Amino acid sequence: MILRIAHIGIAVKNIESSKDVFSKIFEIESPYSEHVPTEKVNISYLPVGDTLIELLEGTDAASTLNKFIDKKGEGIHHISLEVDDIKFEVTRLKKLGFKFVNEEPSIGGDGFIVVFLHPKSTNGVLIELCQKK
Ligand code: ZN
Repeated sequence: MILRIAHIGIAVKNIESSKDVFSKIFEIESPYSEHVPTEKVNISYLPVGDTLIELLEGTDAASTLNKFIDKKGEGIHHISLEVDDIKFEVTRLKKLGFKFVNEEPSIGGDGFIVVFLHPKSTNGVLIELCQKK
């Protein structure tokens, strides 16, 4: 079951200056950050109500995120949907014909396991499914 929009991921070139921009918009005093080595990204989280804005900065040129920025520029990168049973949802959506970037959930940020639907089967929108570990 899809529970909520967990976060919206935004690809940025410089996380420090972007934190400043989005902190001003959302009037948030102390966003928290982490490094996710499996995805080669630094992430800063800005809570907005029940949802987070997730700023993503690639940590090396070979990261998927930097390839995205090279191709499309900075901007909205993905929408993350929290689910109660990620394996069930992968199976359900595969049966409906959706493609996945990776079918095995991996460790994402903020204490979640994640899997991505391939944007070719979702009108160009990268959709992440996430479940609390
Ligand atoms: Zn995400």
